[in-house]
Order: sequence, then structure tokens, then C-alpha cells
Amino acid sequence: MAKRIAILGSTGSVGKKALQVIDALGPDYAVIALSAHSNVELLAQQARRHKPKFVAVTNTDYAEQLRELVGGLDVEVLTGPESLVEISKSEEVDIVLTAVVGAAGLPAALAAVRKGKRLAIANKEPLVIAGQLLTREAKKNGSVILPVDSEHSAIFQAMRAGNRREVRKIILTASGGPFKDATISDIQNVTLEQTLLHPVWDMGPKITVDSATMMNKAFEIIEASFLFDMPVEQIEVLVHPESIVHSLVEFVDGSVIAQLAVPDMCLPIQYALTYPERVAGIGEGLRLDEIGKLTFERPNLETFRALSLGYKVAKAGGTEAAVFNAANETAVQEFLAGKIRFANIIELVESVLGRNHNARGGIGLEELFEADAWARRQVLELIHQFQI
Ligand code: NDP
Ligand code: MG
Repeated sequence: MAKRIAILGSTGSVGKKALQVIDALGPDYAVIALSAHSNVELLAQQARRHKPKFVAVTNTDYAEQLRELVGGLDVEVLTGPESLVEISKSEEVDIVLTAVVGAAGLPAALAAVRKGKRLAIANKEPLVIAGQLLTREAKKNGSVILPVDSEHSAIFQAMRAGNRREVRKIILTASGGPFKDATISDIQNVTLEQTLLHPVWDMGPKITVDSATMMNKAFEIIEASFLFDMPVEQIEVLVHPESIVHSLVEFVDGSVIAQLAVPDMCLPIQYALTYPERVAGIGEGLRLDEIGKLTFERPNLETFRALSLGYKVAKAGGTEAAVFNAANETAVQEFLAGKIRFANIIELVESVLGRNHNARGGIGLEELFEADAWARRQVLELIHQFQI
């Protein structure tokens, strides 16, 4: 029987790629559910092409429009944020590939692991906020969380060269983003347009901004620590502008195993679906002779303060990462809306973390979302108060 896949966030950068990958995988993989937040035109187009059983729109303002657009199709329409949880729990779904953006994807990711499903996770923010909860629930319910984030897919692949006890450290690579060589004063006046011009990857706007601040790498440190049960002290970041080496694992004997491939999300998406098998895919092969050389350098911790924050937040535990993520999510939204400057993003995140809201102990979804809402309010208040 075909593996039945739900793609949450099918209209985004990763979601669209996932549909191409599944198409190429052939009849062994079937698309059962698709979702969008507001782009119902594209969602309806995808539904006509891939014939899922369910389509969901999380922003209910677009529910009527979606119903009209898919009126002639044999598909069930679900609406509202809860619809993603419903899809994750559905007995008709084997693999949940979550490619929605932000904290909004957390309830559906949790529902998938609680049902013991394979969770192919691109949506990194839930792992940042609730990595402990997600990995614990996955273990308890026999679910497997497979990374789609390219660095984590690389680590996951490299880890197969030895056993967990033999790992000395993880080395996460980073492209460095559009401002890799910038000084603090250079980045004061960068524009939204410059920020959205990523040198290597073509991604959604939120993660593109996170790459420019290197907040994305801070999140990936936390993501890796939960996915691979590794203290953050054993996770390093190395800037590698060519983005060919997607990450590395160093073993206790000094051997370093890396995963290399052209920078294209097709491969990590596909591996999360076909694991433990490898199959021929649509990704291009790697021609190292054409690339010629690969370079590596230390990250600039002065310009990219987000990196050090990532380590601090990971060590603090509790609800700190939920605050960290939500403050950033809100600041990035304001930056994308043209309301604040690039440099304000990190300043706002630092200020909100400085307000010390961490709660420890038995932390569930409710506490995490309470911390998330608190941090969002703080950011908006700070913007208002200082008329940024
Ligand atoms: P996009 O912005 O391109 O797509 C986001 C998707 O989520 C869209 O389908 C969007 O719908 C939907 N969405 C937006 N807001 C909500 C919401 N509040 N609730 C539910 N669904 C929502 O993002 P990307 O594809 O770039 O990234 C998706 C996730 O994958 C992120 O967490 C990112 O960090 C991670 N990731 C992305 C990579 C990439 O190459 N792009 C690489 C590694 C990780 P609509 O189109 O209707 O707005
Ligand atoms: Mg990544």
C-alpha cells in the first residue's frame, strides 16, 4: 500500500518542493492532505493536480473562497488552525510533513507524534519551543521525527556512521546569509530588499530574514540539541558560504563525517519520506570538480549576536526558547511589514529575554503558548514605547 502523506503548508517554499518530490517518487507515495493559510488559489490548483482527500485553510477568512474553488472536486474542506491537528490525527495519514512557518505548527506536530506517526519536520520553530516535549512524546508513542532542515538531515545521515556514544560533536554549517562579511555598523541601515536576497537558498520570507540575522542558526543549534539529544556545548557553527557541506559529525576517534550535496531542499525532503531507503530523486548530482573549492570560516559573533543568544537560551531551558522564538517571530513580522529596522530585530529579542519570564518545571503546551503570547505583547509594547 502507498505511504499516505499530509503536507501541512503545501503552498510554501518547502511545501511546493515536497509536492514535486512526491510526484517523482511515483505510486508508492500518495498525497492525502494539503494546507494553506491564505493562498487558496494555489491550494485549489494543487488539489486539482494531486487529488488529496482533505484540503485545509487555517485562516478562516479564506474558507468560503476555498469551498468555491474546490466545489467540483471530491475533497473534504477543513478550516481553522485546528484543522491541522485533525489532519495529523487522521487514521488516513501515515506521514505528516510539516512545512508551515512559525509556532503555529506546534499543535499539529505534537498531535502527529502522539499518534505515533512519522513526522517529517521542516517547521523548525516547534522543535525550538517544545523540543523536549516533542521528542519525549515521540519516544513514548513510537513515533519517528525525521529532520527536513538540510543541516539536520545531514547530521542524521552522518550519525549513521557510528553510534551515539561515539559522537564527540556536531558541526552545523551556515551560509552566513547576505550580510556574512558585514560589521555591526554596516547592518544598521540594510534594507528589506537586501535582507531578502539570500545568496544561496530561495526560501519563504521569514526564514530568509532569520538567515540574515543568523537567528536561523541559533534555532538550528537548539533544534539539533533536541533531535540528537546533544548538549549545546557539543554543537559548533562553521560558516561555509558555498553551502555544499550541509553539516558534519565528529566522532571520538577524530573522524569527521560530512554530508555533501547541491543546495536543494528536494534531497532532505525525499530522505525524510523514504528513510531508511535511498531512491533516485529529482535533485541534481554534485560536481565537485566544477565547484573547485570549499571554504570554511568562524562566524562573526559580534555582528551576529543571535548565535550567542541561541546557546544561552538552550542552557536556560524552561519556557525561554518559547519567548526567544515568539519575540523573534513578532519582530520579523514587523520588519517584513516595514515598521522596524533590521537591527531592531535582535535588539527587541534581547530586550524581551532580559525581562526574565522563564518558567521551569512541568511545562506543557499551555505554559509554552502563554510564554509565547507574553513575548509577542512585549515586542509590540517596546516598539510602541520607544516609537521604533
Ligand atoms: P513559506 O513562507 O514559503 O511557507 C509557509 C507555509 O505555511 C505556507 O503554506 C503558508 O500558507 C503556511 N502558513 C503561513 N502561516 C501559517 C499559519 N499561521 N498557520 C498555518 N499555516 C501557515 O515558508 P518556508 O516553506 O520557507 O518554510 C516553512 C518552514 O520550514 C519554516 O519553519 C522554515 O523555517 C522551515 N525551513 C524552510 C526551508 C526552506 O528552504 N524554505 C529550509 C529549512 C527549514 P500561505 O502560502 O497560504 O501563506
Ligand atoms: Mg537549515
